[in-house]
Amino acid sequence: MTNDTGPPDVIVCVECGGQCHLLTPIPEDAIVEPGTSFPYRCADCMDRFDVVWESDSG
Ligand SMILES: [Zn+2]
Repeated sequence: MTNDTGPPDVIVCVECGGQCHLLTPIPEDAIVEPGTSFPYRCADCMDRFDVVWESDSG
């Protein structure tokens, strides 16, 4: 098993450098397929981002 099976809970906002939090929690045992997009919202500028998860393998 690898601990790199899904998107992070928090990413850096590309707009202001703040923290964007994942809007939809993902279960630890969930299988995230590459190409799936996840919504994030920035705590600082309140912008919403959709991040497409892409796996390194494959
Ligand atoms: Zn921001």
